Amino acid sequence: MQTYIIGGGVIGSAVAREIRLRDLSEIVVLEKEESTAMHASGRNSGVIHSGINQFPGSLKADFCLKGSRELRKYCKEKNIPFKECGTIVTARNKQEEFVLYTLLGMGRQIGVPNLEIINKSKLAEKEPAVKASLAIFSPTGAVVDSQKLVETLADEAKSLGAKYKLGEKVIAIEKNEIITQNNKFYADYIINCAGLYADKIAHMMNTGERYSIIPFRGEYQEVNNLSIRTMVYAAPDLNFPFLGIHFTRSIGGKLLAGPSASLAFGREAYNKQVVVRETIDMLSTQNFWRLILSKKFMKLAAHNAKLSISKKAFMREINYLLKSPILDKDIVPHKAGIRAQVVSTDGKMLDDILVEHKDNSTHVLNAVSPGMTCSLAFAEYIVDEITKRIK
Ligand SMILES: Cc1cc2nc3c(=O)[nH]c(=O)nc-3n(C[C@H](O)[C@H](O)[C@H](O)COP(=O)(O)OP(=O)(O)OC[C@H]3O[C@@H](n4cnc5c(N)ncnc54)[C@H](O)[C@@H]3O)c2cc1C
Repeated sequence: MQTYIIGGGVIGSAVAREIRLRDLSEIVVLEKEESTAMHASGRNSGVIHSGINQFPGSLKADFCLKGSRELRKYCKEKNIPFKECGTIVTARNKQEEFVLYTLLGMGRQIGVPNLEIINKSKLAEKEPAVKASLAIFSPTGAVVDSQKLVETLADEAKSLGAKYKLGEKVIAIEKNEIITQNNKFYADYIINCAGLYADKIAHMMNTGERYSIIPFRGEYQEVNNLSIRTMVYAAPDLNFPFLGIHFTRSIGGKLLAGPSASLAFGREAYNKQVVVRETIDMLSTQNFWRLILSKKFMKLAAHNAKLSISKKAFMREINYLLKSPILDKDIVPHKAGIRAQVVSTDGKMLDDILVEHKDNSTHVLNAVSPGMTCSLAFAEYIVDEITKRIK
């Protein structure tokens, strides 16, 4: 059997590896770029999430918890640079403290290990620069070199027999025939892991028509002259699948603040450019209009647009977490990433992972954050599901 995977990011590569580990099928990965981690998988915060903010009963909660364990083990085995530094979520007032206790309950329910509430003085021992009335500490939060992770998964898949064809952008699919800009390929089975374009690939196969991907740019600032060792978050708004501006000390030692969640006018508009064709396409869907008609969403969009335009607004957000404010000169822009957020025809942003199957194909439609953390466990699930279907 010849299986084609469209997209060689962390999900496509983890699935390729899993299929080859089980020796289920020949694998060819078609990737439009000249290397594998050019988009979300290589432009994220690199956080291996502990699972603390996942809703019990969701696929994300299961995959995040299992994925975090498996990924930390995998990084050790394969010598992928990673650091177990722990995660801190902070509260500044009673309302945020309530969110902390909600997170604590959710985390304990799904089995996140060793969560503890810490008071001001314990927080000061861990992170003297951070201001909060109360915090949660989650010791299994870790950070990884995400590009190296994708490269390692792809190299392992290749060593197990998978073939990667780079520079092959899929432009049409007709039954079993995949048409790229350069070639035609005949597939017995197709797995769509195309990230920001997963909806477009699915629509080519008359699947997932209810869904379209709306891109949200996550902008980062590199922060200098600030001593933060762990990952530090403010209590999130649980109405949205975004965690708000937080600190991450990257594997390379840089301290990053971000990502924001600005509506992007182009699926790969990393530099705030407007891609006219894709913007018109987005504006032509009822998914988009129903989403933006929600008051809550408009508030979020306006707030994030401000963060994108104004350095002062971004600094205010960072300083909310700190005892002493950082200054203008302490932050410089860092490369952005774009989230592929699925929105359904009723205007709802889907907060859980979404996979659809049709005939001889499987479509990963909403590999939302923390997709990288979930990747190994998610790949096992996808391959289990495909195995059941083709038996
Ligand atoms: C700003 C940001 C921060 C994040 N932070 C974290 C984090 O800290 N921890 C975490 O666990 N997760 C995080 N995530 C989520 C995580 O990065 C994603 O869930 C994950 O990378 C999704 O992987 P993917 O393989 O589905 O997508 P991608 O990495 O986008 O891969 C899809 C691939 O498909 C290719 N492709 C697209 N269209 C075609 C086509 N037509 N033909 C051929 N190839 C095609 C693309 O070139 C791309 O390489 C973050 C995401 C963002 C954007």
